[in-house]
Amino acid sequence: MTPHIALIGGTHGNESSGIQIIRNYRRLGLPDAAQGLNVSLHLANPAAINANVRYVEDDLNRQFTPARLRSNDASQEAVLARHLNETLGPKGHSDVDLVIDIHNTTSNMGATLILLDDDAFNVQLARYVKQQMPQANILLEDEKPYNEHAYLCTLGKRGVMVEVGAQPQGVLREDILLQAQTMTEIILAFCAMSDKPDLPPCSAFRLGENVMYPLDDFGLRSAMIHHELQDRDFLPLMPGQPVFRSFDGKDITWWEDTPTYPHFINEAAYHKLDVAFASASQITL
Ligand SMILES: [Zn+2]
Repeated sequence: MTPHIALIGGTHGNESSGIQIIRNYRRLGLPDAAQGLNVSLHLANPAAINANVRYVEDDLNRQFTPARLRSNDASQEAVLARHLNETLGPKGHSDVDLVIDIHNTTSNMGATLILLDDDAFNVQLARYVKQQMPQANILLEDEKPYNEHAYLCTLGKRGVMVEVGAQPQGVLREDILLQAQTMTEIILAFCAMSDKPDLPPCSAFRLGENVMYPLDDFGLRSAMIHHELQDRDFLPLMPGQPVFRSFDGKDITWWEDTPTYPHFINEAAYHKLDVAFASASQITL
């Protein structure tokens, strides 16, 4: 059976790498890495892409829990999610073997492969990506079962996200596009192998929790990311090192007694939520 891979850009309409990669593959043809695969190309949220915004009414990449897909929510993205569930799903019973959803971040996360499960396929994929692209980061978000995630990529039997930054929203940077394309084609090449390579374990990160900005009595931020933390995604943040600089000039230092590996530091899309960064621990996959 030829594996069916759904390649998706524009789940967030202002994350330009995935949108451009899909358009390029449509115009110029699929890359060599796609040989032996049945690859379908999708631009997930055309209205948001046209408006060059993350979403029109609601975040499309938070609509794919079983409960959300059953709801009658009338927002553009909720309706779109149910339509995508018909074409790529139905969730839990899809014919799509792997959904690869390409995203950008304003954080300095480099090329990051986000996995939602650590089954044998995902572990082998992580090791192969790390072997082919040693500078890549592997991030495992397994804090809930695969099917409970709200991400579009969970419509497939398996789903992963390619998350590359730093790139401003709505902007296309050559270096970021090339990293996103390289990682995407490594994943396709892995899927096309009938015999998966047996590779040694690789280092990865496991998502911890969101760390919020400190707020004042009016709900306004009282601090910003400290310059010593800015752009240091996936580097260890040690106890006592600066995290925030308060607007009255004080340093707020890492308050846990163990190091963490911050990522999504100062991510523009999370500002509305007052999320400063996500924590992580280092693991081996
Ligand atoms: Zn995104």
